[in-house]
Amino acid sequence: MTLAHRGVLFLDEAPEFSRPALEGLRQPMESGRIWLSRSGWAGRLPAAFQLALAANPCPCGLRVGRGAACSCPPQAVRRYAARLSGPLVDRIDIRVVLVRPPEAELDRGDLEECSDDVRGRVTEARARASARFSGQPWQVNAQVPAGEMRRRWAPDPEGADLLRQLERGSANLRGPDRVLRVAWTLADLRGGDRPGRDDVGRAIGLRGAAAQWSA
Ligand SMILES: [Zn+2]
Repeated sequence: MTLAHRGVLFLDEAPEFSRPALEGLRQPMESGRIWLSRSGWAGRLPAAFQLALAANPCPCGLRVGRGAACSCPPQAVRRYAARLSGPLVDRIDIRVVLVRPPEAELDRGDLEECSDDVRGRVTEARARASARFSGQPWQVNAQVPAGEMRRRWAPDPEGADLLRQLERGSANLRGPDRVLRVAWTLADLRGGDRPGRDDVGRAIGLRGAAAQWSA
């Protein structure tokens, strides 16, 4: 986590990591720091990282579509999914199901957008956020404390209305705050002044897309 400080921590095949290792991510994800104590030494290390996890739908990885090719027993599939605990999944803002593209598409290599174009959009979005936070201790939406975000950077009235509906239907107070941060990022990406109903709606959709991992 400390090696990934101010960068990306990517865990491929995340459910193959031990439960204690995965649960150990939770506290640093909130605080950006990790406390370690070893024999004769205890200290705090920086650990502010962006976490990306990849997971297969089941241990063999073939449980896609109707899952006809998958040979995993149902208990094994449940055990695999359960490795990512509810509280951990709850801290993951964007959950997306990736579908394997058809071979022909891969052969042609005709991707919709190349990485350079995407980098340009991301750089612009980050510049918008950092201009908005000028004079503040934050540079990106993810760093803004929930209370500040609600008080000072609310969505437009229609977006706020949708967020309130989400709050009423959600037992989890953290969910709407996380949706608001993602909605701001979506607004920054499209060059908008503040999130509207569409941004909030899309942020809610991104949070819930992979039902299997939605606790
Ligand atoms: Zn399988």
